[in-house]
Amino acid sequence: MGLHDPVSRAAKGPTNPEALLDRLEETIRRFSETAARASEQTGACQQQVRDQIEAAAGLEADMASRQIVDLAQAMLATLGQLERNMRRSESETAQLRADLEQARREADIDCLTGLPNRRAFEREYLRAEESARSGNEALYVAICDIDRFKSVNDRFGHETGDGLLRAVASVLGECAQDGCFVARHGGEEFVLLLRGLTRPDAVARLDQARTALSERRFISRQTKQPIGMISFSAGIADVLAEADPRQALALADAALYRAKSAGRNRVACAWD
Ligand code: GH3
Ligand code: MG
Ligand code: MG
Repeated sequence: MGLHDPVSRAAKGPTNPEALLDRLEETIRRFSETAARASEQTGACQQQVRDQIEAAAGLEADMASRQIVDLAQAMLATLGQLERNMRRSESETAQLRADLEQARREADIDCLTGLPNRRAFEREYLRAEESARSGNEALYVAICDIDRFKSVNDRFGHETGDGLLRAVASVLGECAQDGCFVARHGGEEFVLLLRGLTRPDAVARLDQARTALSERRFISRQTKQPIGMISFSAGIADVLAEADPRQALALADAALYRAKSAGRNRVACAWD
């Protein structure tokens, strides 16, 4: 456990959205430069053709028509080259847009559980807090931490532990309806945002998920041994009762700590 600061730096890597966005902007800049040069050069070509046609007016027919044909051929070659450049820029831009979209989606998803990750939660949390405050709608933040999870890893192996994390994610995901948002906050911790409920209903919703999980009996897929019961402890806080959403998250974390100290497999409220 420990206090959580919802402000984290974006992941840095070769496919992170910021780097892709930079590349996209650079390609769009090159594209618009190409387009600008294209119209400039086309305009210059047209001017040349006009000048030559004027000059050709005083020449003998044979010579004039040869010059015009040469010029038209040169113009066609320039236009062809420009068109190819434009097409290349266009396809580069389309590819980058697709990469960017994909990277944005991946950057927000926890790859083990498929739930939104902490980065997505932080963004959603700030957005939900603002919208709840302006709409005067209740909002609660809850942190759930799997009980004695280390011992599951120790006894059944990390792969079984991973499978259990997916199972817990799925139980919590099922409760993510009607304005409830669930994310993996990291490790064996999950965060929930519950909207538009009374305090008792928010606690009941969280408690339902806790009961649903604790009533299941797990078996290790790897060793086929019974794992038995898995539970989580949770702390919940009323976001709008605090001036700062970070404070509400810290209070939910403190409540979680109390739930652990009181024996685990329970929900504790920051307001009690
Ligand atoms: P408590 O009831 O006090 O929360 O006990 P705990 O054992 O759950 O807590 P502790 O913080 O001691 O251990 C958390 C464990 O979660 C340790 C770590 O190896 C495990 N864990 C964190 N992330 C993952 C993961 O992605 N996969 C697996 N298999 N285990 C993980
Ligand atoms: Mg923990
Ligand atoms: Mg734990």
